[in-house]
Amino acid sequence: MWWNWAVMNLKTALTFIRDIPDYPKPGILFKDITPLLADGQAFQAVVDAFSVEIRNSEIIAGIEARGFIFAAAIAAQTQRGFVPFRKSGKLPYKTYGAKYGLEYGQDEIEVHIDSFAGGKTITIVDDVLATGGTISAAIELALLAGAKIESVLVLFEIAGLGGRESLSNKYPEIEIRSLVSS
Ligand code: AMP
Repeated sequence: MWWNWAVMNLKTALTFIRDIPDYPKPGILFKDITPLLADGQAFQAVVDAFSVEIRNSEIIAGIEARGFIFAAAIAAQTQRGFVPFRKSGKLPYKTYGAKYGLEYGQDEIEVHIDSFAGGKTITIVDDVLATGGTISAAIELALLAGAKIESVLVLFEIAGLGGRESLSNKYPEIEIRSLVSS
């Protein structure tokens, strides 16, 4: 076979995340996941580590854009459905929308109103948890659309920015899990 099934451990895989200082604005240390994605074994190790966390969720919901990459891979690996939270104006059907602030600006995400019809149990996935604004908006929309949120999974948590604390204060019943915390 031309491919290599050797499994990289998660710790090694996480070393592929690259720090880019002052991007996209001075003072921001950007966590660049592109080297991790570009290595097949590192990507697989991260998707495996996320996938073992999926229990009762019927849907893996990813946040545009980098959350899509992991959420879609986890959904396929665990045979769950995938739902996108998209930036405003991108979804074709009726949507719920929420504006939020993030570490370096302002944004808005939307979800189709019928994404979680019947009260689906879901896991929300993103790449980085910084101030928590993005995930808070996704939780708000998921609840509005009738979802039961089993957990929130992120690859990298920037602990110093208080995202976890602000989410836990607002949504104490929702479990937040990160693969690595700085
Ligand atoms: P926040 O809403 O402040 O928690 O920011 C999280 C969102 O913004 C995620 O969707 C990330 O993709 C992105 N983000 C925020 N800060 C960073 C960072 N330092 N490095 C990479 N992505 C970031």
